[in-house]
Amino acid sequence: MSNIDDVPVEVSKVFDTILVLDFGSQYSHLITRRLREFNVYAEMLPCTQKISELSWTPKGIILSGGPYSVYEEGSPHVDHDIFKLGVPILGICYGMQELAWINGKGVARGDKREYGPATLNVEDPSCELFKDVDHSQVWMSHGDKLHALPTGYKIVATSDNSPFAGIAHETEKIFGIQFHPEVTHSVKGKTILKNFAISICQVNANWSMENFVDTEIARIKKLVGPTAEVIGAVSGGVDSTVGAKILHEAIGDRFHAIYVDNGLMRKNETESVYQTLTEGLGINLTVVDATDKFLGRLKGITDPEKKRKIIGNTFIHVFEEEAAKITPKDGQEIEYLLQGTLYPDVIESISFKGPSQTIKTHHNVGGLLEDMKLKLIEPLRELFKDEVRHLGELLGVPHDLVWRHPFPGPGLAIRVLGEITPEQLKIAREADFIFIEEIKKAGIYKEISQAFAALLPVKSVGVMGDQRTYEQVIALRAIETVDFMTADWYVFEASFLKRVASRIVNEVDGVARVTYDITSKPPATVEWE
Ligand code: GLN
Repeated sequence: MSNIDDVPVEVSKVFDTILVLDFGSQYSHLITRRLREFNVYAEMLPCTQKISELSWTPKGIILSGGPYSVYEEGSPHVDHDIFKLGVPILGICYGMQELAWINGKGVARGDKREYGPATLNVEDPSCELFKDVDHSQVWMSHGDKLHALPTGYKIVATSDNSPFAGIAHETEKIFGIQFHPEVTHSVKGKTILKNFAISICQVNANWSMENFVDTEIARIKKLVGPTAEVIGAVSGGVDSTVGAKILHEAIGDRFHAIYVDNGLMRKNETESVYQTLTEGLGINLTVVDATDKFLGRLKGITDPEKKRKIIGNTFIHVFEEEAAKITPKDGQEIEYLLQGTLYPDVIESISFKGPSQTIKTHHNVGGLLEDMKLKLIEPLRELFKDEVRHLGELLGVPHDLVWRHPFPGPGLAIRVLGEITPEQLKIAREADFIFIEEIKKAGIYKEISQAFAALLPVKSVGVMGDQRTYEQVIALRAIETVDFMTADWYVFEASFLKRVASRIVNEVDGVARVTYDITSKPPATVEWE
């Protein structure tokens, strides 16, 4: 984009956008997800969004499903101004029931719940919504149903249990479907959403990561203006690195990245982050070695919650101190803070939990905003994790970093159980290094969602070279998960575990025994503390 004055500061003003109004369904975010898969940009807002307060005009509106019943007191309802916009509307499940409720209130509890697959019969083949869709499996998840056809509507699709599986307004472009097209179990669900967005709403499908990154860089350039300065914490993880790279592309050295070395990082980590971010990506980076401060404050602390609190507070303290040292040339103050918020965090914070729900703000660097009076920049807030990875690849972030397993903020402090000392950290570091090295060698790093070694605060008897030993225990943990909400342990080949165990006891002083953690989450968590 050549002239930055032409760039709106909101993404929804750059791309044709579908507005998804969220009634709290567990699938709502998948609607946005599916639309993006065919290059249509969508934005999700709470179902209570006032249309008059929107600063952009959507090309179409989707009302999501939701756990409530439209006829119950206190259940959420949409702003009737959606009908004044004159754009197509699609109601999904609760969304359709809401359309019917507004129309004549013909919704009540059904005789039986319908959950799972159903076959869709398209009754009106001329209906644009169902172009190329007949007789496919759709996914149902509801207990309420329409009892009559709302006035002015016609039936366009049925299923065995749902005479109103699909309805369409006779004259307006308003549609309702009882099933969930956004889940993959609805075989032609994506086609239905595509029909809605592209044929019916006539959206220009121009969302792509390439376009997104160009507009995002231009947007930030404009937002920050010609002189203001931005700071941000980087950790070496994919989100903060990609965020920092975008800021660097937008405003160059007016973006100041700060990396706090808390002494709790993995082997060689600080050096490698420094190299990648400065030499590799050209980012203006300050590394603060605060090892002594962190380890000093953690001395004698064994309680995991206390450890986390101390680390969080110390981090804010060190970061603020360092930020205060960065004085922009013209005496201007730092105005903005970069935050690596991702779309799932945004979704979580906008979901409808009650009619007067206020939107909670998310911040990873808690406290900083209030203390430093900084405004937030969140370049990744529209993206899912895999999209951030894709973006990282586009921006030239090294492959290894892009695909790195997540690493917790408190670092090794919660992987060294019990008291943190330099000696204990060293053992955990060496063991972890061997484990990860072997995983990479075996070519299974990407199959595993997260893997690490934890050092247990117990001693165990062993024998080495005919000598009795009495040393510590390493627990290996490796999990597979989609969303980190639930996880299962990874099934290694026995020979792999043998190799890792033997290397660890042989190469790491202070370890006499290695175990493999075979607990799922729940009941266990991924980390040990
Ligand atoms: N709660 C409503 C019902 O049971 C809507 C369900 C949904 O949107 N998935 O029918």
